[in-house]
Amino acid sequence: MKSVTILGSTGSIGVSTLDVLGRHPEQFHVYALTAHSSVDTMLQQCQQFNPDIAVMLDPVAAEKLQTAILETTVTTRVMSGPEALAYVASSAETDYVVAAIVGAAGLLPTLAAAKSGKRILLANKEALVMSGALFMSEVQQNNATLLPVDSEHNAIWQCMPVGDEQRHQFDGKGVRKIILTASGGPFRDADITTLDNVTPEQAVAHPNWSMGQKISVDSATMMNKGLEVIEAHWLFGLSSQQIEVVLHRQSIVHSMVDYNDGSVLAQMGNPDMRTPIANTLAWPQRIDSGVAPLDLVAAGRLDFATADFEKFPCLRLAYQALDAGGTSTAILNAANEVAVDAFLQRQIKFTDIAKLIEKVLHDLPANEASSLEQILADDAAARVLASELVA
Ligand code: NAD
Ligand code: MG
Repeated sequence: MKSVTILGSTGSIGVSTLDVLGRHPEQFHVYALTAHSSVDTMLQQCQQFNPDIAVMLDPVAAEKLQTAILETTVTTRVMSGPEALAYVASSAETDYVVAAIVGAAGLLPTLAAAKSGKRILLANKEALVMSGALFMSEVQQNNATLLPVDSEHNAIWQCMPVGDEQRHQFDGKGVRKIILTASGGPFRDADITTLDNVTPEQAVAHPNWSMGQKISVDSATMMNKGLEVIEAHWLFGLSSQQIEVVLHRQSIVHSMVDYNDGSVLAQMGNPDMRTPIANTLAWPQRIDSGVAPLDLVAAGRLDFATADFEKFPCLRLAYQALDAGGTSTAILNAANEVAVDAFLQRQIKFTDIAKLIEKVLHDLPANEASSLEQILADDAAARVLASELVA
């Protein structure tokens, strides 16, 4: 029996994770669930899974949850605040930590899980984008196990050579490059001249995946793929030149590994996050995820095309930040979070997102990403500058 903490249990990944856990009550115990402030969803999750602890980041939401729980038979203890997130991520009572908080807010609790040697099921790519070198060294030093939930990285993980001690360094192991597939988002067929006027509603309507708002906008700008390039760099120890992005509109091939001998290994499946979640929960075993079997004949065709850096400048900016190194990727991530938020609030245009990030990257000098303090300082500075530009 493995004990599981889900950071961000009320979100899209969190809900999918509970769906998989609910299919295997004999294998997994839910130790802790956490959320920002969605009391109703959390209460319903507590009634279904009766976790030991429920954390609401927001203290008012925590009080509401506590009151509601007292009227039920649920025995869950309610906690609140950022320290409580780190506590449930590092507690000796938990084996696995699912990192499914969105954005920079996920960094500290996920880092706490790494420091206490947990199996980390990583969905929160922003944590690696912000602090890749530091994060990977904490994972290594503390014997944590880092498994990628992000579907592309999970696909690559499944196609990588096995049997290595250093599982996160694949350079020099016969891997020529990896190919990340991208659906292209809702605007993949749109003319570049129409992108100025797209609305938040259009941007979050993803053709293949159902996801949280922030990552849906990131998919529309293709910043999501850019963040994934950076994530892949840290997870697999490959240079930016070894990480390629290819458009694949059906989202069936989740990514590929291209070997020196000409072999290209791909992982396929229906676009449903329960597959990579089940894979990381059960690894190295396999369990049922509830995902329908892939019907390739029904799918009919698999298309591949070049990703357009002019139409999707965020992808170019992410490669540039990765090559610039240091805190550049933390600055990129912070500016993107502010810009996406401003776009969702209708304060800036869709096409302003990339412009704003480029300006912040240009104006703010990056530093060496050698300490958490430096990373958080540059993250904060990028947010201030980005917010000024929005205003
Ligand atoms: P979501 O918005 O649906 O859920 C986010 C969760 O985090 C919620 O439980 C919310 O309560 C919690 N949260 C939000 N802000 C918080 C804060 N400041 N402090 C503490 N908790 C907070 O997001 P999602 O789509 O589930 O994505 C979660 C992460 O997984 C993101 O990093 C995303 O990039 C990554 N991811 C998601 C998908 C997907 O299919 N949804 C796929 C790959 C990777
Ligand atoms: Mg992905």
